[in-house]
Amino acid sequence: MHYFSASCIIPVTGEPLYNSVLAVAANGSIEGVYDADETDIPGNEIQHFEGVLCPGFVNTHCHLELSWAKGLIPAGAGLDSFVRELEKYKKSVAWGKRLNSVAVTAFEMAQSGSVATADISNSNDTVSFKGKSKQYFHTFVEVFGSNPAYADIVFDKALRLKAEFMAVSQPGSVSIVPHATYSVSDRLFSKIAQAGKNELISIHHQESADENDFFLNGSGPIADRRAGFNPGIEVYKGTGKRPLESIAGYFDAEQRILFVHNTVTETQDIDFAESYFKQAFWCICPNANLYIENALPDIRLFRSKGCRITLGTDSLASNRQISILEEIRTIQDHFPEIPLAELIRWGTLNGAEFIGMEHKLGSFTKDKKPGIVLIENVDIPTLKLTSKSNSRLIIPAGE
Ligand SMILES: [Zn+2]
Repeated sequence: MHYFSASCIIPVTGEPLYNSVLAVAANGSIEGVYDADETDIPGNEIQHFEGVLCPGFVNTHCHLELSWAKGLIPAGAGLDSFVRELEKYKKSVAWGKRLNSVAVTAFEMAQSGSVATADISNSNDTVSFKGKSKQYFHTFVEVFGSNPAYADIVFDKALRLKAEFMAVSQPGSVSIVPHATYSVSDRLFSKIAQAGKNELISIHHQESADENDFFLNGSGPIADRRAGFNPGIEVYKGTGKRPLESIAGYFDAEQRILFVHNTVTETQDIDFAESYFKQAFWCICPNANLYIENALPDIRLFRSKGCRITLGTDSLASNRQISILEEIRTIQDHFPEIPLAELIRWGTLNGAEFIGMEHKLGSFTKDKKPGIVLIENVDIPTLKLTSKSNSRLIIPAGE
């Protein structure tokens, strides 16, 4: 048994603890958190850390396969320009460089405290890495295609890619998902929803106001891109409704679904989604939103509505690092009223609940094996991160 104490222990399922000892078995299994004054553990057996101990982080939105794009795309140019720039570079990156960047980034993710990642894949670039990695991955095989004539071809290709990932993944940890509300034809949406009834669904949602324009009026940059990428396709007229109202009907109310970004999401969008879906989760990727759109979601609104919030990093194409701690720091800088313990819950247990790993990850609960993260250089009296705060995994998540 290992015994750890720290300036503060955040167990996630309870209040932060200031004078406590965390007991962990050699296999990473949590034995318990004890009051330091009431335990008979000899002081010399307790390893003390300056800083905060919390469970391993769960990142619910990443594109590990885009790690090659680190630093390539200028910040602040908006989503439309970002998509076009990424397309331009995509075709000219060597296979070896892509694979190497995946391994380097995944190593940095683990070092910064991540134990599980829900990762978008459009290609098989990450198959061999995920097959070897000790980190837990849920892979979302992502499909898009506005032209219904190609829906069957696109979906069959996704089924083959899914099989490649399933061969190296735990059962239930690969699903086929739509890219965004606006980039998938009716026929393709139906196929995804049909196949994904008992699986996790993730979808990019309201990353910019262009998405509202597309559905409400059938116009704007997304409509222009759709026409440009699909020569001859019939002109889109819009639905006259908000994005989620336009696409929710493909899915059952029971579908566990993650909306990613939500940068321009308003009350009516949340109210609709929460009344339609019984298991809606909202993923916030603050650093990517600032990088691409120089905007942040209305996080106060999501909190006031009691939404299940998770954290994501997006990819190195739109982020300077893949670190949940950096996402937490950015939220704290813009919304200082949100307690650190709550932000850590978003980046641990809420994510674990979305990916169905809450029996093992996300909190210091007896018999879980969530991994242990040390966050150093925290201002302990206020329990706030500082500009010097950093995180590292000191105990990996157990098998
Ligand atoms: Zn994304």
